[in-house]
This record gives sequence, structure tokens and C-alpha cells, in this order.
Amino acid sequence: MKKALVCGAGGFIGSHLVKRLKREGFWVRGVDLKNPEYDVTNADDFIIGDLRNQDLCDKVLDQYFDEVYQLAADMGGAGYIFTGENDANVMHNSALINLNIVERAVKQKAGKLFYSSSACMYPAYNQEDPDNPKCNEDSAYPAAPDSEYGWEKLFSERLYLAFNRNYGLTSRVARFHNIFGPLGTWTGGKEKAPAALCRKVAETPDGGTIEVWGDGKQTRSFLFIDECLEGIIRLTRSDFTGPVNIGSEEMVSINQLADMIIGISGKNISVKNISGPVGVRGRNSDNKLIEEKLKWKPTQTLIEGLTITYNWIAQQVNTKMA
Ligand code: NAD
Repeated sequence: MKKALVCGAGGFIGSHLVKRLKREGFWVRGVDLKNPEYDVTNADDFIIGDLRNQDLCDKVLDQYFDEVYQLAADMGGAGYIFTGENDANVMHNSALINLNIVERAVKQKAGKLFYSSSACMYPAYNQEDPDNPKCNEDSAYPAAPDSEYGWEKLFSERLYLAFNRNYGLTSRVARFHNIFGPLGTWTGGKEKAPAALCRKVAETPDGGTIEVWGDGKQTRSFLFIDECLEGIIRLTRSDFTGPVNIGSEEMVSINQLADMIIGISGKNISVKNISGPVGVRGRNSDNKLIEEKLKWKPTQTLIEGLTITYNWIAQQVNTKMA
């Protein structure tokens, strides 16, 4: 039976990935600081522990794994990574995790190792025009991410690829562009735009108003979790190292995103733009490389994923309010 390790298995993408690997017949070990928040883990073995701790990493990577997925990171939405208040923790915590994992993965001669980087590593100077952002993989340098979160991702991408070159590690690196879906953080300060807007709309009565950070003209693309998992698995099992974008090319402004969610809710709600942490003006996935290398790219429309996500968050909100 093939074995997989999922670091960050208590998180949004990690908990979904565990389910997917179980469906494929893997024996799965998960590790995280916490259990999944909204679900019971499907992992065969779930270790609660801190991957910044070297002894814990020895315990977690104590054997050969056919596939290792490194998703653990100190992260959150704009309200967490763009305020500046968490910069030191974000850099220190995530870098320590990655430094520990590469070393132990080499020691255990791990099979394929997947590392999740982020589109936040792309230079801010290419993302000033909301209608025409540039995020092809080759545009990463000269580096100028707009957050320390992005700088740490860039450092860690390079770390995994350097270990490939010098120690024969078989890492794969993907740059995720805003992944969303059910069972993701939707409240508490670490939630991202789609979940935050779904929550606001679900909490607001018909005829009410929601607040949206920024002027609402900033653009992004959003990828539904199932397509993200497909991209992760396909990349990990391919011969292509990356870095490669895993994202949608369906770019919308944040106010358009809010309008789509309001439309799904069926309520009559208006939008008020207020000042808040927003990040770059525009960002969109560029899928030429993934299509060329994996003969695959995400195709699901945003509205499909948003409908599923809104319904799940509305259910959470209603349960909380009941
Ligand atoms: P998440 O926050 O839900 O999951 C990350 C998990 O890592 C959390 O459960 C957290 O408890 C765990 N973790 C943090 N520090 C740890 C530590 N010291 N030891 C053990 N576990 C620790 O985030 P996610 O959305 O599932 O993202 C997964 C990965 O994908 C992250 O590396 C993130 O940076 C990257 N990413 C996500 C997105 C997105 O839109 N969700 C976009 C770009 C990149």
C-alpha cells in the first residue's frame, strides 16, 4: 500500500487532500498543530505537533513515504498577512517548517515531495494594473513580493529546488492563486476574500449592506478546492518540477465577486467600500505553462464553486446564530 504524508493536514487544503488520497487507497499520515476545524480527519494516523520542532519532524518523517505534501504554513487572508503585525511570525514559523522538512525528506529518501508556494511571491511592480496583471512563472525576477509572506514563499521555493539539485530530492513546486471552498476558514481574522464575503452576505438581512475592503476594483482569480487538488496530484506525479501556477484564469474585481455572492444568496444587499488591507491591485493566474507541461488546466467556472461555498458558509452561520 502506498504511503503519503500530509503536513498541514488540519488546514483547509490539507484536510481535503487527505480525503482525496484516502479515496485513492493510500495509507495517510497527517500532521498539524490542530485537528481539522470543521470535519473529522480521514487520515490513518494524525499527529498533533509543531513542525518547527526538529524532534517532531524526526517522528513524523520516521519512514519512507511515496508522496510528501508540505502545506503547513503560518498564513491567512489579507487581514493577517498585509497588516504587518504578523510579519516576523509568518517568516520565522514557515521558514523553520520548510528547513526541517527538506532535511528529513532527504534523510528518509522521500519519494515525491510537493511544496505549496503562493502567487504572493510575484513582484508587486507587475501587478499594479488591475486589468492587466502579469503572473507568468518567468516574471518572478527581479523579485519584489509585496508581503513578507511572499518573500518567505520565494525563499522556500528556492530551498526545495536547491535540495533537488544538491541532494537528489524530488520536489515539485506550485504557486497557488486564492484557493477556496467548503471547510475553509470563514471567520476569526484568517479567512480570505471569498469566505469573508460569503460570511458577510450570509449574516446580512435582505435590504442590508456589506463592507468590502478597498475600492473594490482590485482584481483576483479564485480556484475551487477540487481543481486545486487535481493540480497538486497531477504535478506531484509528473516529471515536471515547477514552479508552476495552480489557479484560475477567470479574473474578477472584488466588487464583482461580492455581487456574484449576493446574487447566489438571492438577497437584495448593497456594497460599501471601506479602507482596509488589500494587497496588489491586480492578480490573475497564467496557465500556459501548466497546460503545456501537464496537458491540463482548471476549467470550472467561479460561480459553480462559489455556489457550493456560499451554501456551506450560510449553513455554518445559521447554525451559529441558532
Ligand atoms: P491553512 O492555514 O488552512 O492550513 C495550513 C495549516 O498549517 C494549518 O492547519 C496550520 O495549523 C498548519 N500549521 C501552521 N504552522 C504549523 C506548525 N508549526 N506545525 C504544524 N502545522 C502548522 O491554509 P491552506 O489554505 O490550507 O493553505 C495550505 C498551503 O497552501 C499553505 O502553505 C499556504 O501558504 C498555501 N497557499 C494557500 C492559498 C490559499 O488560497 N488557500 C494560496 C496560496 C498558497
